[in-house]
Amino acid sequence: MNPPDRNLLSRRGFCLCCVGGAAFTSGWLTPRESYAEARGIVSLIKDSAAASPIVTHSLRSGISVLEGSGGNIAVLTGPDGKVLVDAGISVSRPQLTKALATLGREPITHLVNTHWHFDHADGNEWLHAAGAKIIAQANTKKHLSEVQRVEDWDYNFLPLSRGGIPSEVFTVDHKLKLNGASIGLKHYGPAHTDSDISVTFAEANIVHVGDTFWNGIYPFIDYSTGGSIDGMIAASDANLAATTADTIIIPGHGNPVSNRAELQEFRDMLVAIRDNVAKLKKQGRSREETVAAKPTAAFDAKWGQFVIDPGFFTRLVYQGV
Ligand SMILES: [Zn+2]
Repeated sequence: MNPPDRNLLSRRGFCLCCVGGAAFTSGWLTPRESYAEARGIVSLIKDSAAASPIVTHSLRSGISVLEGSGGNIAVLTGPDGKVLVDAGISVSRPQLTKALATLGREPITHLVNTHWHFDHADGNEWLHAAGAKIIAQANTKKHLSEVQRVEDWDYNFLPLSRGGIPSEVFTVDHKLKLNGASIGLKHYGPAHTDSDISVTFAEANIVHVGDTFWNGIYPFIDYSTGGSIDGMIAASDANLAATTADTIIIPGHGNPVSNRAELQEFRDMLVAIRDNVAKLKKQGRSREETVAAKPTAAFDAKWGQFVIDPGFFTRLVYQGV
C-alpha cells in the first residue's frame, strides 16, 4: 500500500475505537475522508483500493505477489493458466487486470480464497466471470452465501452472487496439481476467522498464510465468524512448524514478501500482548481500563501504525482471554 493510503487508513484506524459509538470530531479530515468516515471503515478501504496502484513482486518458480487491493494476492502462472490466491477488492479490477496481463498471456483459470473476508473475496465475481474456478474451505462458501455481520467493523456484508461463490470446497485439506506445482490447501481451524487456510506451493517453498499473519502490523481478529486471539496464536505456531528459513511467507497484509523470522516476531508479539491483557482482565479490569493500562505499549511503535491501532487491538485480545 502506498504511503498516502497508509496514512489515510491509519488516521481512520485511530478512531476504530469509536465504531458504533461517540462521534468522531476532527478538524483535519479532508471532505473525502469525512465522507468515508460517515460510511465506515469498509467503505474507506474500498475507496482506498480504488485509488491504489498494484505493485507486483516477483518471487520464484512462476509465482508473484500483487499488492494494493486489500489482501496480498499470490499468482502462479503457467500453461494451465493463472492460479490466484485471493481476489482483492472488486474496485481494483482495472489495475489488477493490467497487472495480471503483464505476468503473461495465460487466461485466469483458478482462484483460491484464503478466507471469506471482503478484502480477499470481493473480487470473486469478476474473476469468476473472467474464467476462474473458485476453491475454498467450506466455511468460506457458507459466509459468502449469507448476510454476514462483522460487529467490530459495524458492517453487514451481503451474499455474493452465484458466480462469486466457491464451487469447489473442502473441510480439512485439499491438493491441486497445476502448472507443475503441488499446491496444498490446509484449514487452520478457528484462527482469524473459522474459514482460514494456508496455501503451500511445495516445490517453490512458498506459502500464503492469509490473515493468520499481518506482517509488522497489529492484525484484525474476527470474533463474529469464529476468530480468536488463541486461534491466531495456534495458527502462528502451525505456520512456524510448517516453514523453514528458506520459505517465502506471504502474509495477508503488510509487506508481502516475508519470512520465518518476521513470522516468529509476529507470534511472539501476539503471545506477549495476550499475556499482558489476560493478567489485567484477571485482576478484574474492565475493557476500557485494560486499554488505559496500555498492555501493548512495548510494541506500538512497530506494530501500531496501520488500521488496527493499539486500543482496537487491545479490545480484540480482551474479548478472547
Ligand atoms: Zn481477513
